[in-house]
Amino acid sequence: MEASTSGRTYHDDMARILWSPDDITARCRVLGRQIANDYKSKAPLVLGVLKGSFMFASDLVRCIEPCPRGLTLDFIRASSYGSGTESSGDVKLKTDLKKEKVQGRHVLLVEDIVDTALTITTVSRYLLEECGAASVATATLLDKHERRKLAYSPEYVGFVCPNEFVVGYGLDFDEEYRTLPYIGVLKPECYAHLGIPGPEPVGSGESGD
Ligand code: 5GP
Ligand code: MG
Ligand code: MG
Repeated sequence: MEASTSGRTYHDDMARILWSPDDITARCRVLGRQIANDYKSKAPLVLGVLKGSFMFASDLVRCIEPCPRGLTLDFIRASSYGSGTESSGDVKLKTDLKKEKVQGRHVLLVEDIVDTALTITTVSRYLLEECGAASVATATLLDKHERRKLAYSPEYVGFVCPNEFVVGYGLDFDEEYRTLPYIGVLKPECYAHLGIPGPEPVGSGESGD
């Protein structure tokens, strides 16, 4: 990151805004009601996948109304390391969640975006096969299904995302833009200096979070 930003703000780096804070709030309410209904007698373990889901998870859980008894919240961190412009698929998980706390639970993963689906597939397998979860479903804010490498259909989707690199509302580029309250398309000139050709800088170092 440059030390001097010459008065530019993150807002100046947006090509366009795709979803406003009001759009996101409205979708959270719809998804929250569906989740409350689907999990009403299941005491779900809601598991946010960090870091990207921190804002969505925070808003979504407040919309799970009426809130089922036994619902608990935890987080897991997933990162993948790539060779350049693509995620390698070598997804690393970090969590202090005890396996016995997952065993037999109905887990609802909360993700910022499902892109290739390598991350969510790895997390789901870990929960089902290593931790003995009773079921695993996914609520993702964004579904960029055009770029799937593995077949995966999230149960709850906020918005279908075009094949462009988006930031804001938890989603970062090189740790920047996460705190914006909306989701926007990042101007390609903001990552052109890295020599990245398309909307795919997710594997440039640590991604997946
Ligand atoms: P996957 O390809 O494994 O489905 O997604 C891995 C991760 O790549 C996501 O959790 C997210 O952190 C990152 N990612 C994928 N597409 C985008 C995007 O358009 N913008 C941002 N900021 N991150 C993305
Ligand atoms: Mg994510
Ligand atoms: Mg990221």
